[in-house]
Amino acid sequence: MTMQPNSQEARDVAYQLHAYTNARSHQQAGPLVIERGEGPYVFDAAGKRYLEAMAGLWSVGLGFSEKRLVDAAHRQMQALPFYHTFASRSHGPSIDLAEKLVKMAPVPMSKVFFTNSGSEANDTVLKLIAYRSNALGQPQRKKVISRLRGYHGVTIASASLTGLPNNHRSFDLPLPNILHTGSPHHYKDAAAGESEEAFATRRAEELDALIQKEGPDTIAAFFGEPVMGAGGVIVPPATYWEKIQAVLNKYDILLVADEVICGFGRTGKMFGCETFNIRPDVLVVSKQITSSYFPFSAIIMNDRMFEPIADESNKIGVLGHGFTAGGHPVGSAVALENLRIIEERNLVAHAAEIGAYMQDRLRTLADHPLVGEVRGIGLIAAVELVLDKTRKVAAGTPGALGGVASRLLLERGIISRNMLDALAICPPLIVTKVQIDELVDGLAGMLEDLKAEAAK
Ligand code: PLP
Repeated sequence: MTMQPNSQEARDVAYQLHAYTNARSHQQAGPLVIERGEGPYVFDAAGKRYLEAMAGLWSVGLGFSEKRLVDAAHRQMQALPFYHTFASRSHGPSIDLAEKLVKMAPVPMSKVFFTNSGSEANDTVLKLIAYRSNALGQPQRKKVISRLRGYHGVTIASASLTGLPNNHRSFDLPLPNILHTGSPHHYKDAAAGESEEAFATRRAEELDALIQKEGPDTIAAFFGEPVMGAGGVIVPPATYWEKIQAVLNKYDILLVADEVICGFGRTGKMFGCETFNIRPDVLVVSKQITSSYFPFSAIIMNDRMFEPIADESNKIGVLGHGFTAGGHPVGSAVALENLRIIEERNLVAHAAEIGAYMQDRLRTLADHPLVGEVRGIGLIAAVELVLDKTRKVAAGTPGALGGVASRLLLERGIISRNMLDALAICPPLIVTKVQIDELVDGLAGMLEDLKAEAAK
């Protein structure tokens, strides 16, 4: 790309280090500068329209132009632009939201602790788990287990929970005490001919063996996304969560459900836990809680978590933890309005209905020679690209084929992100059938472009 001197692109390259970007390639290619949004679409600086098939970062549930969220933020800014929740201070929006989240949780919950991002929330859960174990007089119970391909964030502790190589490599992670068990990816990880049920049984047995090896009384918690997102949109195989939970219950291990992507309708139910009958002790939410109009996250916990924590804070005199902007009044007000809109407009039922339509239509692509698998549930899906369908492999460099595919799709006015060679699809909840058709037709066209490029 030729960048005009002093253009936005040139200044971006000159001054900004980008997340999840190859910094050297970026110097050559420059950024895609997005200027405005309308419904599920965004527009670049040249006015080109893109269907945002990733809802930003799996997050803009209500689309890019929901005026009611803007008005809610504006009203709260005028009334009380900031107050905190340290030292027994509080404010109306955080109280209303905490009550709302406890009441809407899919299992009995007790308290909410507010944070600002998914990473911060998971990091905080890790700290609270250690605090709880100390409170219970079980100082040896500090290890936690998450899964390969899982994604829980990027702070030192939450990146350690994440089970993806690029989040560990050269960062000297993971931390000790954070262990990983196998992923629930049937397509890639099951043995030839192994059924979903048999694979789920094997994963549960492996978890049990890991707990036995480490010592059951040293394991405090298990972290998992109901459907893995950044690991490639991995829908758990049949009976998986039932079997995993049986193992955790056997050893009295806490279950933390990371609903940062699944929460608030994504899987066709309000929470991913409802879709898969997961009964967590802790629920972590973020992203779609404010449609990402405001950075925000929350930890919803039951009394099994809260009671020992309360006792420990009483013993020490304080819970020595909290973030300046946690439970920010503007974020809380935006979240409340966002949840109100999801309910008023029946967007969870809409996600289930349009999601089923999207899943059916996407599966029509499965016969294409470059498509290894189409998977997903509700309004989240992935198209796994391969060069060899039988061996289930793409190009030599993992992610190379996926990278070309997302570039070709972008040229067709559709934004998706490749998780290595899986193209992720996660449109705003407000997406219509006509827009799903536009998306799937675009994907079909892209696959033909990709076939032509692969043949070169
Ligand atoms: N957990 C899950 C399941 C996520 O998908 C993400 C982000 O994509 C995070 C945690 C981390 O959230 P954040 O990027 O807000 O730190």
